[in-house]
Amino acid sequence: TMAPIPKMMKAVQIETTGGTEVLQHKDIPVPTPKDNELLIRNEFIGVNYIDTYFRTGLYPSPKPMILGREASGTIAALGAQVPGSLGFANGDRVVYMGPSAYAEYTACPAEKVMKIPQGITSSDACAAFLQGLTALTLVEETHKVQSGDWVLVLAATGGVGGWLCQILRAKGAKTIGTVGSEGKVDIAKQQGADVVVIDRPGQGDVLKTVKECTGGQGVAAVFDGVGKDTFERSLECVARKGTVASFGNASGAVEPFLISKLSAKNAKVARPTLFNYLFTREELEHYSAKLFKMMMDEKFSVRIHDTYPLADVARAHTDIESRKTMGKLLLKP
Ligand code: NDP
Repeated sequence: TMAPIPKMMKAVQIETTGGTEVLQHKDIPVPTPKDNELLIRNEFIGVNYIDTYFRTGLYPSPKPMILGREASGTIAALGAQVPGSLGFANGDRVVYMGPSAYAEYTACPAEKVMKIPQGITSSDACAAFLQGLTALTLVEETHKVQSGDWVLVLAATGGVGGWLCQILRAKGAKTIGTVGSEGKVDIAKQQGADVVVIDRPGQGDVLKTVKECTGGQGVAAVFDGVGKDTFERSLECVARKGTVASFGNASGAVEPFLISKLSAKNAKVARPTLFNYLFTREELEHYSAKLFKMMMDEKFSVRIHDTYPLADVARAHTDIESRKTMGKLLLKP
């Protein structure tokens, strides 16, 4: 039998933007699922870099806002008109990307929710979902990576970076990975980076390493989630006809640049978001199936950095922003 749904719950809300002091762990009403929505009892909540962008105001949003874009758990109730074709029932184990996930319960559009296959734990499903799907779409859609390509992955032991390295290895590509400290080098290699550079002033030289590895040609693709501090260098690292995939702002937003710079190498710059690759139900199902299949394959592993209680959300944000984490940080409501 299902636990009754309470009237109130804990959630993490912001009313203003700023540092971690604006994160409020407080009691608010449990949402009622609207038409086409599922009410999900969250078991694990994913921390993603984007959560810090909403907190700081880099990405604007109406307030108050419950943070969080990703969680796994069980279906507690179905709203009216949830299509039967989606096959959802109370108690199903599910994972989703949707708003207001930093909470005990979340009402989420049913079409954004996937059932977790048997054999995959709810913690792994949450840990892998958003970042694994991002990595998959980057190498399939933003730049279709070919076996034998040299590729540069920034923050190679990060959430997205770790998946990129593993997927690129499976594709037969050759990966140069950057990390922020010595302690991350071995993990980056274990996850599939062929060459690892410590990207800190006075340490490794990323451009020089790229040139050495590629005989001066540059890499076919740069996957750059660091943004402001690295974008210009990424343009220098890319090969003729290559792609700079700028998909994030861990160091701040990329500044405007002149497109005429691209003609030096006929390079392409892409600025993708996962949301626009997984826009339709078919797209979400296609890439989720690929991810789940990978997760059942022993060649791939899910790296969970740590799991904190939801009340410790400030510590989670501080950890990810201070470059301490490797892999996924989870919150438990
Ligand atoms: P990560 O776990 O990768 O954490 C960010 C990492 O970036 C850090 O661990 C750090 O690794 C590196 N980094 C380099 N410079 C800085 C800096 N100045 N400040 C902070 N971190 C820095 O986070 P995610 O996997 O959640 O996200 C990675 C990137 O991908 C983010 O930019 C995120 O916004 C983006 N993203 C974009 C998506 C999209 O749809 N476009 C979807 C998902 C994520 P190190 O110290 O080793 O260099």
